[in-house]
Amino acid sequence: MSTLRFQALKETLDRKEIAVNEPARRSDIFGKHVFDKDSMRQHLNKEAYKSVQDAIVNGSKIDRSVADHVSTGMKEWAIQNGATHYTHWFQPLTGATAEKHDAFFELEMDGTVLEKFGGGQLVQQEPDASSFPNGGIRNTFEARGYTAWDPTSPAFIMGTTLCIPTVFVAYTGEALDYKTPLLRSLQAIDSAATDVCKYFDKNVTKTVATLGWEQEYFLIDSALADSRPDLQLAGRTLLGHSSAKGQQLDDHYFGAIPTRVLNFMRDMETECMLLGIPVKTRHNEVAPNQFELAPIFEEANLAVDHNSLLMDVMRKVASRHFFKVLFHEKPFAGVNGSGKHNNWSLATNTGVNLLSPGSTPMKNLQFLTFFVNTIKAVHDNEELIRATIASASNDHRLGANEAPPAIISVFIGSQLTNVLDELEKVTDGKLSPEEKTDLKLNVVGKIPEVILDNTDRNRTSPFAFTGNKFELRAVGSTANCANPMTVLNAIVAQQLIEFKAEVDALIKDKKLKKDEAIFNVLREYIKQSKKIRFEGDGYGEAWEKEAKKRGLSNNKTTPDALKAKVSKKSIKLFEDLNIMSKIESEARYEIEVEEYAMRIQIEGRILGDVARNHVIPTAVKYQNRLIENVVGLKEIYGKDFKKMAKEQMILIEEISEHIEKINKGITEMTDARKKANNAKDAEETAALYCDEVKPFFDEIRYHCDKLELLVDDEMWPLTKYRELLFTR
Ligand code: ADP
Ligand code: MG
Repeated sequence: MSTLRFQALKETLDRKEIAVNEPARRSDIFGKHVFDKDSMRQHLNKEAYKSVQDAIVNGSKIDRSVADHVSTGMKEWAIQNGATHYTHWFQPLTGATAEKHDAFFELEMDGTVLEKFGGGQLVQQEPDASSFPNGGIRNTFEARGYTAWDPTSPAFIMGTTLCIPTVFVAYTGEALDYKTPLLRSLQAIDSAATDVCKYFDKNVTKTVATLGWEQEYFLIDSALADSRPDLQLAGRTLLGHSSAKGQQLDDHYFGAIPTRVLNFMRDMETECMLLGIPVKTRHNEVAPNQFELAPIFEEANLAVDHNSLLMDVMRKVASRHFFKVLFHEKPFAGVNGSGKHNNWSLATNTGVNLLSPGSTPMKNLQFLTFFVNTIKAVHDNEELIRATIASASNDHRLGANEAPPAIISVFIGSQLTNVLDELEKVTDGKLSPEEKTDLKLNVVGKIPEVILDNTDRNRTSPFAFTGNKFELRAVGSTANCANPMTVLNAIVAQQLIEFKAEVDALIKDKKLKKDEAIFNVLREYIKQSKKIRFEGDGYGEAWEKEAKKRGLSNNKTTPDALKAKVSKKSIKLFEDLNIMSKIESEARYEIEVEEYAMRIQIEGRILGDVARNHVIPTAVKYQNRLIENVVGLKEIYGKDFKKMAKEQMILIEEISEHIEKINKGITEMTDARKKANNAKDAEETAALYCDEVKPFFDEIRYHCDKLELLVDDEMWPLTKYRELLFTR
C-alpha cells in the first residue's frame, strides 16, 4: 500500500471524538449572530429602525444621514458580539461567496485609536474586483465594480467578522453577481402576482416568493479525501472501481446517523442557529456517506443567502471534525449523486400561500389561477429552466436514473389532473348559472379534499406539485439557488402579466364577469400547456420517446442546454421585466460556457496525471513482479514452466493491454484538448470539450479501474471506493 494511502487510513481509524457544544434549547440562540429586528430595536433610534424596515418591506431608499446612524448601531452590536472586522459579503459568478475583511480599528492622524464604521462603508464599497468573472462586461483597465448593501438580507457575524450582504455591480450598472438579478426578479413577481391577487383580495399589497431548499452532500474523512488528487482538485473521483457493496441493500437511507457524523451535524446546526438559518431536518441519504439537510422555508432572497452561507459553514465546521464535505453532484460513480431540491411558492402580505388551496371556492379559484399560470410558464419556458440548472457537474446526474432527466415536465397528481380536465370543458364565453354552480360545488369547491388525499408523489419528476408548493428537483447540489429562482420568478411574473391582460380584456370587451373571464383564460392555458404535464416514470426510456413526440426539449449536455439562455425569447423576457439587459444575459452565458470548458479541461488534466503518474507506474511494478515470478518458475521447472506460469502470463499480457489503452487515450485526449483550446470562440471550445475531450474520460477510466482489480492491493496507490465510502 502506498504510504499516503496507508497513513490516510490509519489517521481515519484513529480519529478521536470531537466534543460538541450544543445548547439545550435551540430557540435560546436562534439568530444571536444576526442583526435582526430585535437587535435593531436595541441599537437603532426610532427613525433609523423605521427607515430600515421600510427599505425591507417597500424597497425604499435609506437616507445617507440615516445610514450613518445604522452603521454606528450595527458596529456597536457587532463589537458587543465579538466582531473585530467587517466585510461586504457577496456572491460573484464564481459560485463561491466573496469577502474582504477590514478592521473596525482606525488610527487617526493625531495618533488617536478608535473603532470606526461609517454609513459610507455600510452602504457601498469598491472591492478590487477585476479577477471576478464578468463575461467581458468590464475590461480590467476599468475594473471598477462596487458592492452595495442589501438591507432585505440582515447582516450577520461569522467568526469575528461582521458580514453585510450586498449586491455586486459594475460601475456601468450591469450585475456581476447572482443576487442582483434575483432581487429584480423578486420585484417583478411581487408586482405581477400582487396585481393578480387583487382580483381576489384587495388587501394584498405585497407578494414574496418563498424557497425551501434541501441540500444533499457527502462527508468523507479529510485524510482520505486529501489522499486522492481527483477529490482534492475536482471534488469528485475520476477513477476508482466500485466497491463490492454499494447502496444495493438500501441500508443507509434514513438509517441511524453515525456518531462522528452526528457530532458534525450538531456542531454545524448550532452555528446555523446562531446565524439564523432555520435548519430543521437531517438524515442519511441513499448512498453510503451521503446525507441531507433542509431548513424551514423563507423568503427567497434570504433563503438563497442562507444556502450560500450554509455551504460555507458546512465546509468550516467539517474541517474542525476532520471531514471534507463534497457538494459535487456526482462524486462517485455507481452510487447516487447529490441534488438540491428547490421548493418554491408565493406568499402574500396577508399570510396566504398562493399555491395552497383554500376553504372557499373563491380562494380555490385564486389557487387554480396561480397553479395553472405556473404550469403554463414552465410549458412556455421549459428550455430556459433546463438551461438554468445546467453545469458540468450536474450533467452527470440528470437522467442517470437517480435524478430527473434533462427533459422538463410537470407532475401534479391524478386528482388535480382531474380538476384540470374538468376546467378544460368550461364553456367558451359566458357561463350559465347552472355551470357556475356546478363549477363551484363540484370542481373548485372540492380541491382541499382532493389535495389531502393526494399522497402519490412522483419522485422521478423534475418539477412536481407537492400539495402547497412546486418542487424543482433538477437543481444540482453545488448550484447557487439564485439562478433557478430568478428564472422561475421571471417566467411566472411574465405569465401573470399576460394573464391579467387577457382577463381584463375579456371583462372589458366581452363583458364577462370576473370569474367567467378567469375560467375562460385558464381553460385555454390548460389546453395550451398540456404537453408539459407528465405523470409517469420520468426515468424510463419510454418517456424520452414520448417527450420527443410531444416536442419537448431534451438537451443532455450543458453546452447544448445553455444556449436557451441567449435565445431571443429569453433575452426579451429578462429585458421586458428589467431583470437583465441583453449585455447581462450574454455575459452570463459567456461565463458559464467558459466555466464549463475549464472544468472539463481541469478534470482532463487530473485524469491524465493520475493515470500516468499513479496507475501506470503501479501496474508496471506489479507486472515486473509477475515477470520475476515467471522467470523464477522457468529457472526451477525448465521447459515445464509454461503450465505453472500460464495464468501469470495472461495477467502480464492483460496489464500491458490496459497500459497501452490508457496511454493512447491520454495522448489522444491531450490532442483533443489542444484542438478545443484553439477553437474560434468560447462556445465552440465548450462544445469541443464536451463532444471530443470528455468521451475519453470513460475510456481511460475503464482501463484504470480494470487494473485496480488486477494489481496487488498492497501496491495500489489510490484510496479505494470501499475505503472512501465505508470508513468513518
Ligand atoms: P418532503 O418534501 O420531504 O416530504 P415537506 O413537504 O414538508 O417535506 O417540505 C420539503 C421542503 O419544502 C422543506 O424544506 C420546506 O421548507 C419546504 N417548503 C414547505 N412549504 C413551503 C413553501 N410554502 N414555500 C417554499 N418551500 C416550502
Ligand atoms: Mg424534496
